[in-house]
Amino acid sequence: MADRQETIFEKIIKKEIPADIVYEDDQCLAFKDINPIAPTHILLIPKKHIAKIGDATEKDEKMLGNLMTKIRVITNKIGINDNFRVVINNGEKAGQTVFHLHLHIISGRAMSWPPG
Ligand code: 5GP
Repeated sequence: MADRQETIFEKIIKKEIPADIVYEDDQCLAFKDINPIAPTHILLIPKKHIAKIGDATEKDEKMLGNLMTKIRVITNKIGINDNFRVVINNGEKAGQTVFHLHLHIISGRAMSWPPG
């Protein structure tokens, strides 16, 4: 029995709620953010649940490595190539609202630094 409430992203993985999917394989899923902050705003998530990057341990190395290399596959597929930013919010105070690890892939506008 689950000891936590399922997140919206797990419902998207199970196709219980719709999403605009741009890439999927047996380990990960990428789909368009419902509230984009740039012309291109993709969320890349592992299918295995992990709440946040700060929870990752050695046992997650393969899954995390897979996600990192899928960035190239997805950005090539959607044609944004070299000009994009990858963001991971960790914890409420850092802006995390969905507690299933996700990488924001953002592109299509000028970006400032440091982030807000
Ligand atoms: P966080 O704030 O946790 O780093 O990012 C969560 C992201 O998920 C937000 O950018 C938000 O717009 C997006 N999001 C929340 N619910 C949904 C949903 O049901 N569908 C999609 N496609 N994106 C969602």
